[in-house]
Amino acid sequence: MSNGVETREFQAEARQLLQLMVHSIYSNKDVFLRELVSNASDALDKLRLESMVDKELNVDTSDLHIAIEVDREKRTLTVRDNGIGMSRDDVVTLIGTIAKSGTAELLRKLRESKDTSASQDLIGQFGVGFYATFMVADRVELVTRRAGQAEGTRWESTGEGTYTIESVDDAPQGTSVTVHLKPEDSEDNLFDYTADWKIREIVKRYSDFIAWPIRMTVERT
Ligand code: ADP
Ligand code: MG
Repeated sequence: MSNGVETREFQAEARQLLQLMVHSIYSNKDVFLRELVSNASDALDKLRLESMVDKELNVDTSDLHIAIEVDREKRTLTVRDNGIGMSRDDVVTLIGTIAKSGTAELLRKLRESKDTSASQDLIGQFGVGFYATFMVADRVELVTRRAGQAEGTRWESTGEGTYTIESVDDAPQGTSVTVHLKPEDSEDNLFDYTADWKIREIVKRYSDFIAWPIRMTVERT
């Protein structure tokens, strides 16, 4: 396994779904944050479980939480967790391909339906997970380290067919996803995902039931 930056292609189905996200046929873009928070919460659940089962796993589970950070100048939004994390192979299989059984069917139905509102309903029903970030991002970075492993992984993509992946030695345990927001979103306040009130509103609307603490570092607007 190489430690340098490697460029890889998304699997065909993943590419098709990404294409739909990049060109956002789905108007409710707010759900990207729900998907990131939900993945972070799952990762914390998994770490808690694994630390109970595997007594050898030497990780600190005293402060499991989710952090949301916004950099208004750089126009980035980061969702970070100190959960289970992913190995490099995990990242390739979990993020580079679509393991979900319903996806092929979703894509088929989307191709069949000419009507946009029907497509919207379909995406809402199936959920598109991590790829939803590409509705609001022109670039997404993910840095992760699997609990119990020394090597971390950095992944980056613009959502257009390929991604880069490299091993890093300074990744904190867990996962951080940094969304580089598309520039056009800044013109419409409704889609200003760097605004404190907007982030709070979305988290309240979709992630109120999340059992883990969600800490926000967002400059007030
Ligand atoms: P789903 O959550 O429905 O499985 P996603 O597209 O949201 O689909 O995520 C795909 C997979 O990537 C997850 O199942 C999980 O294994 C992995 N993953 C995503 N985000 C994280 C994270 N923050 N920490 C650990 N694993 C993650
Ligand atoms: Mg998910």
